[in-house]
Formats: sequence, C-alpha cells, structure tokens
Amino acid sequence: MKALQYRTIGSAPVLVDVPTPVPGPGQVLLRVTAAGVCHSDQFVMDLPEDQYIYGLPLTLGHEGAGTVAALGEGVRGLEIGESVLVYGPWGCGRCYRCSRGEENYCEHAAAEGISPPGLGAPGAMAEYLLIDDSRHLVPLGDLDPVASVPLTDAGLTPYHAIKRSLPQLIPGSVAVVIGVGGLGHVAVQILRAISATTVIALDTAGDKVELAQAVGAHHGFVTGGEAAEMTALEEEIRALTGGRGVTAVFDFVGIQATTDLASRLVAVAGEVVIVGVGPGTVNIGFFSTPWESSARAPYWGSRPELMEVLELARSGMIHVETERFSLDDAPHAYERLRAGTIRGRAVIVPDHDQHGEDAS
Ligand code: NAD
Ligand code: ZN
Repeated sequence: MKALQYRTIGSAPVLVDVPTPVPGPGQVLLRVTAAGVCHSDQFVMDLPEDQYIYGLPLTLGHEGAGTVAALGEGVRGLEIGESVLVYGPWGCGRCYRCSRGEENYCEHAAAEGISPPGLGAPGAMAEYLLIDDSRHLVPLGDLDPVASVPLTDAGLTPYHAIKRSLPQLIPGSVAVVIGVGGLGHVAVQILRAISATTVIALDTAGDKVELAQAVGAHHGFVTGGEAAEMTALEEEIRALTGGRGVTAVFDFVGIQATTDLASRLVAVAGEVVIVGVGPGTVNIGFFSTPWESSARAPYWGSRPELMEVLELARSGMIHVETERFSLDDAPHAYERLRAGTIRGRAVIVPDHDQHGEDAS
C-alpha cells in the first residue's frame, strides 16, 4: 500500500510503498477514508535529531477516519465496511486516567511504549491503518469522513481546552483566540456553540481573521505588528471587555510573543490556555499577572469529549473548513501548511479505486 512517511531528519515527507498491515488479535484494520494534516506534524518534522522521539520511518497522520476492512481475532461489535473515526491519543486502557476515558493523559503510555498513530505508531496517511484496539474507534454513521476527520484533533483539542473554562464564559465574558488556523477556526465555533462569551479572533494573516469572522467570531484583528500598533490593538481589545480584561485567552501558537500577549490581555481571575506547541511560557506571580489569573497547557482530549464534539458536528453547530489533497499530493499539503495558505484544515483522501488496492 501507499504511505506518506517522514524518513530522514530535516527532509520533506515522501510517498512510499509499504506492506499492508494484517490485524493481530484484538486489532482492527481500517481502509483509510480521510487523514488530517496538523501543524504538530510540521513541529515533529522540524525537530533536531537529538530531540526527535517518534521513530523513523514515521507514517504521518494522527487524525484518521476509515471503514473497517478486517478484524483481528477476538474483535467483536464492529461490522466490515462500517465508517469510523479514530480516537488518536492511545493509552494503556487500564490506568486511572484511561478508565475515565482520558487516554490523552495515560499514566503508562510512555513506559509501555504506546504512542498515537502518526506520532510513533504508523499513522493514517496511508491506504490502510492498523488500530491497536477497537475502543479507539467511534462510529461515524452517515457523516462525511473528510469533513469529520479533523474533529479528532482540530475539534477535540480546542473542545477539551475550552470545556474547563466554561464556568467562566458567562454572558458578558470575553474570549480571545490567538491563531485561527486548523484548530483555532474550530475553537471559535465551539465557543459560539457552547457559551455566551464574546469571541475575538487574532491572527497574523488577514485571510485567517476573515475566516474566523465568517465562522462566528464577533471581532477579528490582524496581530503581530510593531509595538505601537500592538499597544493600540491591546487597548481596543481591552475596551471591548469594558476595561475588565479578557476572561480566557486560548493561544494556538504558543510562542513567547503570543503567551506574553495573552498575559497582558487576561483579566483578574482569567485564564491563559496554551494549546500551541511553541516554546512560550507564562510567568504567573503575585506582581506579574492579575490576581487569581491562571495558566494551563492542555493536551488533546478525552474519549467522551470526542463524542461531544461529534454531536456538535452532527447537529450542524460546528463545521470544519477543509481542503482536499490526494495521497500522491500529500507532500504538497505540507508545503501549503508551512506557507500558511491552507484555509481551515488540509485533509488527505487516498485514491483507492484508481489504484485498485485491496486489503487482501
Ligand atoms: P495552523 O498552521 O493550521 O494554524 C496556526 C495559525 O496561527 C495560522 O492561522 C497562523 O497564521 C497563525 N499564527 C502564526 N503565528 C502567529 C502569531 N505570532 N500570532 C497570531 N497568529 C499566528 O496550525 P494548527 O494545526 O491549527 O495547530 C495550531 C497549534 O496547536 C500548533 O502549535 C500545533 O502544534 C498545536 N497543537 C497542539 C495540540 C495539543 O494537544 N496541545 C494538538 C494539536 C495541535
Ligand atoms: Zn494534531
């Protein structure tokens, strides 16, 4: 089968031919219908050799959807041909966190060498994807796999980040979303769907700000200008909060410039939520941040939360903007991501029919 692999540190991913996997006991083989392109893939491929921990070669793709192609021994409750989404943050399934459905915070994954598809285990950017356990599959029903596959990360991650701030996001509150690309443009919609907060979108790219406003942001601003422009922008945002400051800042970039901006905008008892994997930090302290403000850096989301995100999509309350690419064209999707020209989320769709591939 064809697979998109990152093979050499510092070089672009390439399309290669690899053996189609065969499901062992308890495993499930999916015929991939869609795989999402995440900025985290770019982060991983930009890591220097001494920090790279994902193994080589690495088949990319931690957002996956497919139809059940084959069942390993002992797997029950799934039908061949059934359309499913993959819950990506695989854990051990037995520890305290996993038992709560929070496999994103599995206590044993690192020690047991368990890693998500596309971030250690072979990922979804291939014609077939091996799933370690059927509990990592969520029925998709008649939802379109291409439109839905980003829900597993670009939907789930902001949902998890926002849900904990919900008690604060009351009428009159203000939320700022920094970086309204793949994750951020979904964050805007989730905020609108599940809270009464006023949503302000910030991005260095004007077209991303426009997209954020088109999908529901009340206000949008281009950020990242000179110091004087930034001061004026911050004053404008503060005015929109009635002078109280921002209730919750969701930072989908996470570099020092954006975490600093978040710290300056946040209100008394407000929250800075760092989702972007940049190296930025927040310096919380009695004299450095408003009283009772807090910061956290969440990772991905839980299985119950993925069900909730799916319900939001099913009811039409959130919709991921997607651009489709074939598996052959997947390297181009990564070039476009790096150039910042993807509108919403890029999704890779394997062209099974044209090549007559089959699981057998
Ligand atoms: P993306 O490339 O689709 O979107 C990033 C957006 O940020 C773009 O619109 C870009 O124009 C904007 N941006 C860049 N620099 C900016 C700046 N200085 N100020 C304002 N906006 C800026 O990326 P994505 O796939 O949405 O991922 C966003 C971030 O979230 C990445 O860092 C990714 O690695 C991270 N991520 C984290 C988790 C997690 O569990 N914490 C999960 C998935 C992705
Ligand atoms: Zn991701």
